[in-house]
Amino acid sequence: MTEPMLSVRNLRKTYGGTGRGEGLVAVDDVSFDLAPGESLAIVGESGSGKTTTARMVAGLEVATGGAVLLDGRPVAGPGKRRSRDIQMVFQDPLGSLDPRQRVGAAIAEVLAVGGRRSRAERRVRVAELLDEVGLDQRHAMEYPRNLSGGQRQRVAIARALALEPRILILDEAVSALDVSVQAQVINLLVELRRRLGVSYLFVSHDLAVVRQVSDRCLVMHRGAVVEEGGTGEVLDRPRERYTQQLLDAVPRPGWTPRKRSAALT
Ligand code: ADP
Ligand code: MG
Repeated sequence: MTEPMLSVRNLRKTYGGTGRGEGLVAVDDVSFDLAPGESLAIVGESGSGKTTTARMVAGLEVATGGAVLLDGRPVAGPGKRRSRDIQMVFQDPLGSLDPRQRVGAAIAEVLAVGGRRSRAERRVRVAELLDEVGLDQRHAMEYPRNLSGGQRQRVAIARALALEPRILILDEAVSALDVSVQAQVINLLVELRRRLGVSYLFVSHDLAVVRQVSDRCLVMHRGAVVEEGGTGEVLDRPRERYTQQLLDAVPRPGWTPRKRSAALT
């Protein structure tokens, strides 16, 4: 059998455990694989452990137990540097961008840290990355506050892609955007995956978005994976009651809240 590119095994995270007390179990025995170029979604309600799982995979959070393996080797651990093969994009790009740094410099900084030595080389790559995420060259001289939410998220994506990672973790990366802007950024993500062959771990509570970007889907509930399968299969024919409840909570066109219709009579 061939080894999966990314292999997450029995990942666990507890907060605030002391002595024999368990503390809060945020992530409970989560396992999954991710293949090259594949897009895997993690869905679930708020507090189900999606972000904690994503952060452990990215090496931003230390796991209480289990392992994250890339090509069969652990990606995180004591004294180990974060793998540049796994990068993360967050919901709020302003949180990860320095307000005093122009966009071009913010992208160049990632390249410098990644060992791209000459300034000329970095300048060429910054231009290439801006183009790749659908921004104009003039955006390089802008400050984050002068960009729209969608443009700022494109900058965050450019930074995450700068060192050519194999895996991009997107944690609610389009959740804060207006619907029309959201659709554009989703299109960009679909396009980038096709062009670059990068894999996505796409964390979202929004099932409609997940449908558009993911081949496969994990459903988390109270820290554990309760269902896993092809996105269409899981969302159209869920096997678990929890998944069905999650789907029922999504407003559909033509659906009228009960309270409102009662008030109208
Ligand atoms: P999701 O992303 O699905 O909303 P999270 O992974 O953020 O869920 O949170 C899972 C659980 O872990 C929640 O109960 C949350 O309150 C808890 N949690 C997350 N981060 C911390 C932390 N740093 N300290 C204590 N509890 C945390
Ligand atoms: Mg979250």
